[in-house]
Parts: sequence; structure tokens; C-alpha cells
Amino acid sequence: MQFKGTPASPGISYGKVLILKHQELVVEKKQIQDIESEISRFESALIKTKTELEKIRNIAFDKLGQTNAAIFESHLLVLEDPELVDQTINTIKQEQVNCDWAFSQIAKQFIAIFEDMEDEYLRERASDVKDVSSRVINHLFGIHQHDLSLLDEKVILVTHDLTPSQTATMNKDMVMGFLTNIGGKTSHSAIMARTLEIPAIVGLHNLTEMAQTNDFVLFDGSTGEVYLNPTTDLINKLTEKNKLELIEKEKLKSLIGTPSITLDGHKVELAGNIGSPNDVDSLLRNDAEAIGLYRTEFVFMDRETMPTEDEQFEYYSKVLKNFQKPTIIRTLDIGGDKQLDYLHVGVEMNPFLGYRAIRICLREKEIFKTQLRALVRASSFGQLSIMFPMISSLEEFLEAKNIFEEVKKEFANTLNIKLGVMIEIPSAALISDILADHVDFFSIGTNDLTQYTCAVDRMNEKISHLYNPFSPGLLRLINLVIKNGNAKNKMVGICGSMAHQKELVPLFLGMGLHEFSMSPMHILSTRKIIQGLNFQECKELANRVLALGTAREIENTLTQFLKQKFN
Ligand code: PEP
Ligand code: MG
Repeated sequence: MQFKGTPASPGISYGKVLILKHQELVVEKKQIQDIESEISRFESALIKTKTELEKIRNIAFDKLGQTNAAIFESHLLVLEDPELVDQTINTIKQEQVNCDWAFSQIAKQFIAIFEDMEDEYLRERASDVKDVSSRVINHLFGIHQHDLSLLDEKVILVTHDLTPSQTATMNKDMVMGFLTNIGGKTSHSAIMARTLEIPAIVGLHNLTEMAQTNDFVLFDGSTGEVYLNPTTDLINKLTEKNKLELIEKEKLKSLIGTPSITLDGHKVELAGNIGSPNDVDSLLRNDAEAIGLYRTEFVFMDRETMPTEDEQFEYYSKVLKNFQKPTIIRTLDIGGDKQLDYLHVGVEMNPFLGYRAIRICLREKEIFKTQLRALVRASSFGQLSIMFPMISSLEEFLEAKNIFEEVKKEFANTLNIKLGVMIEIPSAALISDILADHVDFFSIGTNDLTQYTCAVDRMNEKISHLYNPFSPGLLRLINLVIKNGNAKNKMVGICGSMAHQKELVPLFLGMGLHEFSMSPMHILSTRKIIQGLNFQECKELANRVLALGTAREIENTLTQFLKQKFN
């Protein structure tokens, strides 16, 4: 069986499927005779849950630090709560009922009590009880929950979607790839896959229904092709392709430590995009010269409450400490496809045009100030620049800058922190000459700039053919921003996915782009292209391309140019 999805992270993989499914369990009430053995069944499930939680806590502590491990400490405390345990045992005894039912009823009462509490902290404990009780009930049902940190066999994960915490805690040595039902090229699971350098395909609709655990699957992360239980011929063909790709990857390592410079001496910066402090390893492995984008929203996602200033400080300072090169950290860019349950934004008709990113921060000032305080405190550990996402006007930037200045006053002896904006809304691109007088740098967010310029939802697969990086209107807008930034000596970078698209590298170089920021895995192949180009020729190419009227002509011209250079 063959499927086609959206290529998310390159690489060929073949292996055993592990389906991750969320199972709703129905607990039925049953009368029992043997009370003692029912109690010991319950106690044995408690012991199994405790062992499982302790293991996860230790792994989270080693990989992610104390703050992230704390949640599992709270879960262990819930598990040992004498009231929860004693009341369950009393119900088993008094009503002569099965322990699954007794425990689920008592847990429900606890959850309801917590949910009703005034205090926000205590209210959040309801979700701890929910999580722990579902673990216990799974053990009582004999269901093995797949904890990705405890994987001990190599697998390819097939799932509806992966949460940031699943990707953060998974045992990467055992995950040979992942395939998800939903998501697009720029969804968080796709971005994570590229950062972790794990082959992946997203947007496979109902693959979790078609495949089964222990099936074998073969896929090519650069084409989006998936073969379930493939023939030996196919396996051999793709294994051969994989070998060649690995040889090429190995060869690229010789470029580590060499400059990102053209044949005629024009130097640019090749930076990396990250989503977590753990990704710094990948930056170092791939010789990133800077961090062009740290997406901090992953600090806020997949948790029950806002991270505190101290928690955020821990994340930001870890990145700066471990990566002693220029680092651009982006303030919270939530909204659109990245929602926080605890922020209660409500349902919107057009979430990508709605209440998101800087719009939230300028209204919920305490959220913004808390993040800025954490950033200012962390700045002493490295070379920090801050950038604001989704800026649409000069007023917005000036308001954000004022808040930043207010926060800075709370601290004595702050370092010089550069402030920049993401250019991802056409109204900002069109006034980039004016914005350039006020900012220290621009970083063009082509993922969003494409969707807003061409009016194409970046998540909608039906219109993905219109989401075209070769669109002449889009490229003229990018050129305008680069020219306006350069005219005022302000650094201009691109941190959207177009930065690593090989056909576009000579074009952006010719337009005068200074910083190319991308998933670390693409840095060395981009350096190879740059080292084979001539800046003067790229400038001429840019002039020619900017005069063309269709995306097809532009794509053909750029493909031809690259072929001539590298074949
Ligand atoms: C972009 O829009 O290009 C970008 C880099 O930001 P994100 O993908 O996080 O929206
Ligand atoms: Mg964006």
C-alpha cells in the first residue's frame, strides 16, 4: 500500500511501525466476591504506576532539567495521597465492587473538588489527578501505554500528531522516523523533526487507521512517499538512494569550520532555528554561526499554566550559555495553529488573522513583561538579540519597544540587547524603509509572509499549490525589505523555510541578504552552494528574476542557474 503526504524532514527510513493512539477506556461497575484479591490487584497497579512515574521523572530530570521533572514529582505525590488510596479501598470493601470502578469514582470526586477551587494553582491539580488516574486504570486494564522516553526497540512512530513534550522526551536513538495524520511543512511537528534530524512526513490523513503496530513501513522524507509492508525491490531501491544521501551528508562534514563565503569573497551568515535548549547540540554539530530564531512558544505549549519568569529564565539562559554566538530569541508567537488552552482566546473565524503573537503581548502586558524580564536576566550569559513577531505597523513596534525599555529599567547594569522585528506581514514590508530607522535588524518570516501576501492559508492542503515560494509578488516584497534594510545598514535575515530552499539561495544572495536562518540540518548543504557561487553573477540573476511575471518562469530560471553551476 502506498500513501503520499507532505515531506517534513528529509531522510529514508525503513522499520517497524509503532502506532500511538489515545484510547478512551470505559470502566464498568462489577460486584466482586474476593475483596482481598481485588485490593491486592489495586495495590499492584499502584506499584506499577509508581515505578513508571519514577522512571519518567528521572529521564525528564536528566534530559530536560529539574523544572520539567517537577510535574512528575507532583504526579507521584497524587499517587501516594492516602485519602485517594484509602477511600478507594473503603469503597471496594463497603460496596463489594471492582477496584477499577471504585478508583475511577473516587478520582472523579477529587477532580471535581480541585476543578471547583478558587485558587488557580489548586485548580490546575485536577489535571494531575486525571493524568495519574488514567495511568493507574491503564495498568488495571493491562494496557501498555507507550512512553516515548522508555522505548527500547527501534521504531517508526505513526500517530495523529506529536506533542512538543513527546518530541522533547522521546528516546531519539530508538525513533527512526515519524509519520503523522495532520500538519503541514511548517507545523510544529514538522519543525521539530527537522531540528532533531529525524526523517518525517506529515499530513497523511488516516494513516493511523491503515497501519498497525508491527507492520513494516518504508518512507522517503524528502518526497512524502510512504509504503506500507513494501516489496523487497522497493526496499532495495530506496536503501540505495539512502546510501548515496548518507555519503553526501558525510562529505558535507568537511565544510565544518569553513566560512560561508562566495568565490568572489562575499560573506554571509548561516544561522539555525531552534525550538528548545536541547536543539543547541544540533546547531553545534552543523556548525551554525548564529541562532536566527529561537521559537519560544514551545516553552509555553503543552503545559497547564503559564511558565513563570524563573522557568523561562532557565530555558533562555541555557541556550545562551551553551551557544556563545549571536542569538536571536523571538518573543511569544502564540495563536494561529499554536494555541494555549490556558490562555482562553476563544474560537475565532480566522485565527491566522486574529488574536496572536505581539497582539496578545501588547494587550496582556504581564505575560509580555514576564518574558522580557526573563530575557533581560538571561542576557548576561551570551549574545542576545530580541525580536517581535507579527509586527504590522510602526506603532506596534514602538509600543513593544517602550515596554521593553520599562522592563529594562527594573534592572541595574543591563547589557546592550539589539531589538528587531519579524517582517511577515505585507504592511510591515511596505514600510520597511521607515521601520529601518527604528530597529536594529529585520528577520523575514517567509512562512507567514507567503500566506499573507498570496492569501493562502499555510495549513490548508487543498490550496497548497498556491503557497508558492517562486511567486513574483512575494519575491519583490522580500527584495524591497532587503534593500530598505541594507540602505540603513540594518542586518536583514530570512528565518522562514525559504531560507534553505536551494534554488532560492543564489537569488537571496544576489538581493543582498545577510543572514540565512534554517533548521540546523540544512546549514552545511547551503554553505556548499554559497561557496560555489559568484556574488556578482547572483546580483545579475536577481535583476533578471525580479523582472519576470510568473512563478513558473522564475522557478525555471533559478533551477537552470543552479544546474549550470553545480552539474
Ligand atoms: C515565519 O513565519 O516564517 C516564521 C519563521 O515563523 P513561524 O513559522 O514560527 O510562524
Ligand atoms: Mg511566523
